[in-house]
Amino acid sequence: MTRPLLDVEGLAKHYPITEGVLRDEVGRVRAVDGISFTVDRGETLGLVGESGCGKSTAATTTLRLEEPTDGRIVFDGEDVTTYDDAALKRFRRRAQMVFQDPTSSFDPRMSIGESVAEPLRVHGMRDRERRRRIVGDLLERVGLDAADVDRYPHEFSGGQKQRIGLARALVINPDLIVADEPVSALDVSVQADILDLIDRIQTAFGLAIVVISHDMGVVREVCDRVAVMYLGEIVETAPTEALFEDPQHPYTRALLESTPIADPRRRGRGTSLTGDVPSPSDPPPGCRFHTRCPEAIPDEEYGLDPETWRGVLNLRLRAESRGIDVEAVRTYAAEGDDPDAAGPDAVRAAIREEFDLPSTLPDARAEAALAGALDRIVASDVDGAADRLEDAFPTVCRRERPGLVPEETDLSADEWTAIKGFRVWVATLVDADEEAVIDRLAERCAGETDREGGVDRLAIRASFRLPEPLSDADAERAVGAAVDALLTGRADAAADELYGAFGPLRESACHLNRRE
Ligand code: SF4
Repeated sequence: MTRPLLDVEGLAKHYPITEGVLRDEVGRVRAVDGISFTVDRGETLGLVGESGCGKSTAATTTLRLEEPTDGRIVFDGEDVTTYDDAALKRFRRRAQMVFQDPTSSFDPRMSIGESVAEPLRVHGMRDRERRRRIVGDLLERVGLDAADVDRYPHEFSGGQKQRIGLARALVINPDLIVADEPVSALDVSVQADILDLIDRIQTAFGLAIVVISHDMGVVREVCDRVAVMYLGEIVETAPTEALFEDPQHPYTRALLESTPIADPRRRGRGTSLTGDVPSPSDPPPGCRFHTRCPEAIPDEEYGLDPETWRGVLNLRLRAESRGIDVEAVRTYAAEGDDPDAAGPDAVRAAIREEFDLPSTLPDARAEAALAGALDRIVASDVDGAADRLEDAFPTVCRRERPGLVPEETDLSADEWTAIKGFRVWVATLVDADEEAVIDRLAERCAGETDREGGVDRLAIRASFRLPEPLSDADAERAVGAAVDALLTGRADAAADELYGAFGPLRESACHLNRRE
C-alpha cells in the first residue's frame, strides 16, 4: 500500500494574548486547534472554510514557516517538527508555498528570470546559464515565453504573475506545493486558466498539492479530496464529489448552500449560513458551530422543529452575551411613540419577531419557559432571562464537544484520535532498523512497562490510549496487527497495516453523525 507523503496530526497554532509591561499571557488566539489530515503523493487536497477559520495558518504552520504550538508533521517518514535549520532547508526544497497575492510576492527590482531562479541560487546552483535555461523551460511550461526571463514584474498581468509564482515554486522540483488562495486575487476571467494550469502541473509533475481556499467552486474544480475547516478545527473530510453530493456536516451543508454553484441538483438544499464566525480567542464551548448551526439538536424534552429551536437558541445565546438592549426593543415596539408607552405584550412580540419565534410555541412547557424568560427581559433582567433559558433549553451541541469520526466504522472520536496519533508515530520509524524501533518503543512506553520492565502489547496500547478491544472489529484487527509488528521491530509492516486500514477515510465531526 502507499503511505501518504504528508501526515499532519493534532497540529495546533496558538498566539498568546499578552497584557502589561511584563506581557503576562491573559489568553490565546486558537488559530489552528488540533487538526489532522493526510496528503498522498500526486493528490490535491483542498482546505476550505470562511475567512478567519485558520486555513492559511494551517498552511504556513505545516510548512514550518511558523512554529506549531503542538502536533506532528510527518513528511515522507520524517517528523518535520524536530528539524534543525539544515534539515528545514532541505525540507523547503521539497515543499513549496505559492502565495495569494502574485504582485507582492515579487521584488520589483528583480527580473522575472532572477526571481524564479532565486531558489536555485539559494540552494547552491552556481551556474548562471544553467539557471537561465531551467527558468526559460519552466516559463514555457506555465504558458509564458522563455524570452520573458529578462522582463520585470510590472510588465505582467495578475494572472501571468501567478503563473510565474507557480514556475518559481516548481523550479527546485518539489514534491509538495501549498497554494494559499491561488486565484482569489485574480480577475474571474483568468481564474479558470490558472486552475487549469494547477491541474496540468499536478499531473505533469506528479505533485501533491494543498489548495487553500474560501471558495467551494475552486476546490471542486481542482481537488481530489476536501477538508472543511471551521474556527480552527477540521469538521469534515471527504472525496470531492462525495462532499458536494452528500455533505455530512451541517457546516459543510450551510457553506455549500451559501455558495453560488452552477449545479441545479444542489439548489434548494440545506439552509444558508448566517451570523459571524466567533472569535478564535474565545471559541464557543461544545461544538464550535453551535452558535450558527441551522441543525443544532433540540432538547428531546420538547417537540420543537429545528427552525424554532434555532430561534430559541439564538435568543438564549444573545441573552448570555448581554446582547439584548431592552431600551432599543422598547423603542422598536413603540413604533415611533414614546418608548415608555410600549406595553409588555408589544415588547414580547418584538423579541419573538426578532428571533423568528411564533406567538406561541407548539409545546406547552417550552412556551411556559420562554414566556418566563421574556417576562424577565421586559423587566430589564437580561441575566435572569439568560439563566432561565439556559436551564430550560439545554442542547447536547453546547454541552459536548464532538470529534471527527470516520464513516463506515464503529469507532468513537477518542478511539479515532488515538489511532491517528499511533499511526503518525509509527510513520516516523519506517526507515529505522529493528533495534532502533525497539529502543524507541521502550522510550515511548517507559511509564507503561510490564512487571519485568518489558514492553508488551498492553504497554503499547496504554501509551497510545488505544482501548482493547476497539469498538470496530476491522480497526481492532489492523491495530492489533500493527502492535504485533512493532513488538518485533517491524515499523514498516506496522505502518502498512495502519495506512492500509485507515486512510484516507471519510470523516465528520457532529453529534448527528455519532452512533450510540
Ligand atoms: S454538533 Fe452537529 S448539529 Fe450540533 S451544532 Fe454542531 S454541527 Fe450542529
